[in-house]
Amino acid sequence: QSLRVDLGSRSYPIHIGPGLIGDKDRFAPALAPGPVAIISDSNVAPLYLEALDKTLRSLGKTVLNIILPAGEGSKTLASIQEITGQLLSAGFGRDCSLCALGGGVIGDIAGFAAAAYQRGVAYLQVPTTLLAMVDSSVGGKTGVNHPLGKNMIGAFYQPRAVIADTDTLDTLPEREFRSGLSEVIKYGLISDQGFFSWLEDHMDAVMARDTAALMHIIERSCADKAEVVTRDEQEGGLRAILNLGHTFGHAIEAASGYGTFLHGEAVAIGIIMAADLSRRLDLIRESEQDRIYALMEGAGLPTLAPRLPVTEYLRFMQVDKKAQGGQVRFILLRGIGEAVITGDVPPAAVIQTLNAFMENE
Ligand code: NAD
Ligand code: ZN
Repeated sequence: QSLRVDLGSRSYPIHIGPGLIGDKDRFAPALAPGPVAIISDSNVAPLYLEALDKTLRSLGKTVLNIILPAGEGSKTLASIQEITGQLLSAGFGRDCSLCALGGGVIGDIAGFAAAAYQRGVAYLQVPTTLLAMVDSSVGGKTGVNHPLGKNMIGAFYQPRAVIADTDTLDTLPEREFRSGLSEVIKYGLISDQGFFSWLEDHMDAVMARDTAALMHIIERSCADKAEVVTRDEQEGGLRAILNLGHTFGHAIEAASGYGTFLHGEAVAIGIIMAADLSRRLDLIRESEQDRIYALMEGAGLPTLAPRLPVTEYLRFMQVDKKAQGGQVRFILLRGIGEAVITGDVPPAAVIQTLNAFMENE
């Protein structure tokens, strides 16, 4: 299965299916003429690096392997320094390509390294987490963290291809898999009512990681994301709908201490809160809110935030606000399949929502 992200001269294909890491014909058209560096992490490399290395060598490529420690802690400028140092030592020129083999962390680092190395070289995304397949590998947001803020150093830089080998999801830990599902559910909510209904009917097959079901959810998610990115590549406006659940979600991640929740888990709670807020503002019906809650719960995702003073959450929403130019911006729902961006939500309603979805002590 293949899709295309339509961005004029920067357009690229997304290939989705089993066994693709071994399929040299998917890689060949996306590679620049020179050598290739595979960038991966210490969990993924032992599982899939050899197969990708073999595929690239079968295309006559010189291949350099760069393996970073797994985890968000690697998303630093020091990793960019490490990668560029290895590329320079190996004599890689502007005709090289980088292959990001891993989850969103590796994709974001490798993409940014590709944007910066000699002012820009080709790169391919080979995502191995569900989150990376449905979200981070598509759309060209790349970057690393600064001690003062997440994703604060980066660039918009599109890959030459996204190659999602669904077989790699076999080894993904259950919690990581479920976490990715909350972003999948998000696409149904913001723009794809039919997909949301499909998820309600097929959650068992999805949770069992049935190949056909996986291909379908990745295909729908990428198509929905690509549509938004095509219309607003650099987040002038519309692209913000992809942040449904993220205003609450980021506050939950920060207030509970990073690492307590995986990103997708915090987003699941955030989406449940956004649905509640939408219902309080009479944008959606209670029956719709109930369906959203039920689907998140059915996907094994958390539905309640830790019990903390509301002011803790509000404080972190203010931090988000600074990052967004002065307004706490909420993405709300006007129905299942339709998102709206709004800057003016009564604070009392936000507080009621937070209180309604915190754990009891
Ligand atoms: P991750 O890359 O850290 O991967 C999660 C864990 O799974 C890691 O320990 C990894 O080593 C392991 N892993 C990866 N693939 C595996 C596999 N197939 N089998 C076994 N283990 C495997 O995390 P993630 O959730 O993929 O990505 C999160 C990152 O993505 C964050 O840094 C976030 O900021 C970023 N992100 C970026 C965008 C974007 O548009 N660029 C969008 C959303 C998230
Ligand atoms: Zn997200």
